[in-house]
Amino acid sequence: MTITAFPTEAVARAPRTFMQEVIEDTPGGNPRLEMCIQCGTCGGSCPSGPDMDYSPRRIFAMIEAGMREEVLRANTFWYCVSCYLCMVRCPQEVRITDIMYTLKRKAIREGYYRDSSASDAPDFSETFVDAVMKYGRSFELGLATRYHLRHHPLDAIKLAAGMGLNMLRRGRMDLTPRRINNLDQLHAIMDKAKEISQAERAQIGGGA
Ligand code: SF4
Ligand code: SF4
Repeated sequence: MTITAFPTEAVARAPRTFMQEVIEDTPGGNPRLEMCIQCGTCGGSCPSGPDMDYSPRRIFAMIEAGMREEVLRANTFWYCVSCYLCMVRCPQEVRITDIMYTLKRKAIREGYYRDSSASDAPDFSETFVDAVMKYGRSFELGLATRYHLRHHPLDAIKLAAGMGLNMLRRGRMDLTPRRINNLDQLHAIMDKAKEISQAERAQIGGGA
């Protein structure tokens, strides 16, 4: 009998479970997702809970069950405002907010965000980041105008006539953007952050 040598490359690596994927693709080390005991403290603490399709607790149960598409199509992580309340209260020290960012990156990279009820969210974030890079701070009027004109033109008129006028009258909103001093220092910080993030991504093998 001839024994054929089995080439090393042909030894297929077992596909990662969705749970492993989320854990390994979260920068900064193990986010302790496997330690979740489903106590629900995170969902109960979350200010955005009522707007979410599934609470963080439920999302974690779905990740464990391998419900990849359902999770990545959910709006949960798009409604996460990164307040970290869940993380400081979690008895198992699960890095919930960091996992929300991992899910956001995956949903963008794989296009699932388009099916979510918060499909405009990535564009809103991009508009916000553009303003911060240009002026060093958010410019609410420009942000709301650009976002609403692109996605909800009728809402833009209502917004301007209602809340916009009120905020302008009370001096709570600027008509023109104001640039911060030493913007170049902020750009240097952002460049460094990008560099660290790219290095971390390379370390986890190009994952999200
Ligand atoms: S608070 Fe922590 S342990 Fe409890 S459900 Fe949320 S992630 Fe899991
Ligand atoms: S960090 Fe996100 S998920 Fe956690 S409580 Fe705040 S909004 Fe909710």
